[in-house]
Amino acid sequence: MTNKTTSKQRELPIVTGARYLGTGITSTNTSPLTAGGGDDCNSADLISLFECPVCFDYVLPPILQCSSGHLVCVSCRAKLACCPTCRGPLANIRNLAMEKVACNVRFPCKYSGCGCPAAVLYTEKPQHEEICEYRPYPCPCPGPACKWQGSLDHIMQHLKISHQSITTLQGEDIVFLATDINLPGAVDWVMMQSCFGHHFMLVLEKREKYDGHPQFFAVVQIIGSRKEAQNFVYCLEINSNRRRLTWEAMPHSIQQGFMSAIDNSDCLVFDTSIADLFADNGNLAINVTISPREKL
Ligand SMILES: [Zn+2]
Ligand SMILES: [Zn+2]
Ligand SMILES: [Zn+2]
Ligand SMILES: [Zn+2]
Repeated sequence: MTNKTTSKQRELPIVTGARYLGTGITSTNTSPLTAGGGDDCNSADLISLFECPVCFDYVLPPILQCSSGHLVCVSCRAKLACCPTCRGPLANIRNLAMEKVACNVRFPCKYSGCGCPAAVLYTEKPQHEEICEYRPYPCPCPGPACKWQGSLDHIMQHLKISHQSITTLQGEDIVFLATDINLPGAVDWVMMQSCFGHHFMLVLEKREKYDGHPQFFAVVQIIGSRKEAQNFVYCLEINSNRRRLTWEAMPHSIQQGFMSAIDNSDCLVFDTSIADLFADNGNLAINVTISPREKL
């Protein structure tokens, strides 16, 4: 039903790799417009009508205007006492016409300034931006201490400079030794593993996801995108005193963040009494094996 492969493509702008235009400039669109009519309207002009005058992000439905008709985005609106354009009162007036237009416009991804060429319907925008490969990556280290974020290419450098204490082991099959696992409170153990031309971060965290019930969470994150994560499988195995506990899964992309693995229990989870069964003098050895995923 869509007509996006028709003659409108003649206007495709050139997509350049890394243009730092800030948010919302539309020259990196691949297929900017729209369904139904409107062919005479320049899409960049059209999209600029949706720019919030305060933050330059887009004003998306529900679109509310002041009594003089000015628009401001929902998040800025929540912080304002009056219209940023005319200083008039922020009345609760919906602008249904703009909302209808918004339904037919493809908006540039929030990370267009970092090179993302995608332009998507506003309803698909949050979903795209969540997994956008151009989105700055957070520091993959657990804990809230480090606020660094940047591109994938710069993460290893950041780890080397700011997190020098993290050890790196080479090879696909290594032992991750967590010492003093009985330390009270929330504790992290972190190590890097390099194999198959990629870097992986192993994290063991002890925390009380449920009050009064400390648990251990262990996961392997790839220093890479979700797409790269799909090429691998990791296996964690604790094996001692004639007991064995195994977890096998696709590595987490550091784009998803370590906390999402804990929140969803998408990792090896065990409680302190299980840890005690496997520990040796308060130290816990976890075998980590990373392998390429077998192509089906
Ligand atoms: Zn705004
Ligand atoms: Zn106004
Ligand atoms: Zn994007
Ligand atoms: Zn960091």
